[in-house]
Amino acid sequence: MSRAIHAERDLLIDIAIANGGNTRSDAKFDLDGATATLMSYAALGKKLGDRQLLVDGEPADLAGSRLQGYHLLSPRHGVAVHIGAFNFPAWGWAEKAACALLSGVPVLTKPATATALLAHRTAEICVSVAILPPGAFSLLCGSAGDLLDHLCWKDVVAFTGGSATGLSIRKTERLLAQGVRVNVEADSLNSALLLPEAEDATVQAFVRDVARDMTQKTGQKCTAIRRVVVPEGLLDRVREALSEQLSTIKIGNPALDEVRMGPVATASQKRDVLAGLGQLRAQTRLVFGDAALPAPLGVPAGKGFFVPIALLEADDALAATAVHEHEVFGPVATLLPYDGSTHRALDIVRAGQGGLVASVYGDDRRQLADVVQGAAAWHGRLVVVDAKVADKSIAPGTVLPELVHGGPGRAGGGEELGGLRGMALYQQRTAIQGNGPLVAKIVGAS
Ligand code: NAP
Repeated sequence: MSRAIHAERDLLIDIAIANGGNTRSDAKFDLDGATATLMSYAALGKKLGDRQLLVDGEPADLAGSRLQGYHLLSPRHGVAVHIGAFNFPAWGWAEKAACALLSGVPVLTKPATATALLAHRTAEICVSVAILPPGAFSLLCGSAGDLLDHLCWKDVVAFTGGSATGLSIRKTERLLAQGVRVNVEADSLNSALLLPEAEDATVQAFVRDVARDMTQKTGQKCTAIRRVVVPEGLLDRVREALSEQLSTIKIGNPALDEVRMGPVATASQKRDVLAGLGQLRAQTRLVFGDAALPAPLGVPAGKGFFVPIALLEADDALAATAVHEHEVFGPVATLLPYDGSTHRALDIVRAGQGGLVASVYGDDRRQLADVVQGAAAWHGRLVVVDAKVADKSIAPGTVLPELVHGGPGRAGGGEELGGLRGMALYQQRTAIQGNGPLVAKIVGAS
């Protein structure tokens, strides 16, 4: 599947530009994310071989001399219903499908309607190469209708999208009554934290990552940095450097090579971004960006759903409550100063009430350890950047198949990916106890 999609990369990039307003680089990010994730799970599949059951962890010795217990993972005998968000029409379905298919569970995937054209074409490519058995992979475009009312306890729902939709899916009576597993990946107010006395290379990496995350995919990334936590002593330097980097970003027709940021995907996304920006601006100041809409490059007047880049700043990081509560799904982030103490920085980071990812940039091992310990329970992923990896680190907005994706609280409480861990959603864990050597043979552990 990965190779088949990759073979049509150029055509798919064109669809993403036309249908999603992606720049070429944004389109590659989505498509290469899809193919890399599929490839990563294909490699895991090769390692697993033909096994249909997996053993989870070590055997436990029970009361008697021969008595032992194992934990067995077997595929659920239902369908994996995948509901995706508009911002990653290829990667979104591929990452979910990779885990479910490797687990041995058939997939019914429903992409968001606004950008379904790319999802449709990528799915069509996979079906056309006839790799999967008939019925193992289906695509549903348009409304989900009453799909969820037909599911039963053997099925799984994995949803990605806004919190409000996630809540309405969770509340579906049929899903509750049948005990259907529901995984929700929702909004997140991701933060990037700069520690005091960070080395120059670390500060530069911080600025680079924030600028990239704000503008890549026009800020339409669930993992994008929204809250930029900076010690007061470095605030002027960071504001200046960020503004300089953001000023080089050309906004316009995403098909043009020189354009670095295209429009948002739909008219309603544009309305939401502008309304959300208004909410944030009521509690902050605009320190970079045009208050008015930009005149986009190579675009006829009045065409396209363009929004301005906006770097905001709050005087009192915690008093600007909207910044910690409202996700603006566009090229918008807020500088949040703190007094340099780890304690205060953690209060600000945690104010997001659970997130997909937080990143911390610094060179003091003690401080980094305090942040990791203090922020871990609030997040699904933490990215630690010091001077030694400043030029190598992968930007926090990039979801990796090897590491779990999903976060607690506002982020939906879900978990996906993470290598073999990503299969757990589609598997039943069963404890099996008895004559140790016999059970080991049955489960394939010896
Ligand atoms: P959305 O409006 O919540 O829609 C998400 C998906 O749910 C779409 O496929 C939508 O279909 C479908 N849907 C809507 N109502 C439904 C219902 N009653 N039953 C079943 N499906 C239903 O979200 P979006 O605007 O596409 O995406 C943006 C949001 O997604 C942002 O808040 C972003 O943070 C979040 N997101 C999170 C992650 C993550 O991994 N945590 C990743 C990407 C995006 P239609 O399009 O047909 O309405």
